Amino acid sequence: METKETLNKTREEIMKGAPALDKVVRGTFIEVYLECTRKKCKCHKAKKYRHGPYYRISYGQGNKVHHVYVPLEWKEKAKEWTDNYIKIWEIIEQLSQLNIKEMKLKNGRKK
Ligand SMILES: [Zn+2]
Repeated sequence: METKETLNKTREEIMKGAPALDKVVRGTFIEVYLECTRKKCKCHKAKKYRHGPYYRISYGQGNKVHHVYVPLEWKEKAKEWTDNYIKIWEIIEQLSQLNIKEMKLKNGRKK
């Protein structure tokens, strides 16, 4: 059976795996291959000759989809931070359920 102590322990475990709130980007990390502006370049002939990979993040804002190019030195960070966005929401949900359980625990206690 769950007690305040086991709930606290679970909460600690959840928080240990939680990314820092400031290391977050809401968007989708995408790898892209692009055509260049040189008219004679073979990249215009077939997809396999395109340049890249380049990286970008697409994100929705105000009913529109926007893109931002990811600087190469941001590549790993950008991937991680878009994953963090999903993780952080999962953690919020877990903590919320846990806190509800704790409230229920108190409600069920007889005086
Ligand atoms: Zn080209």
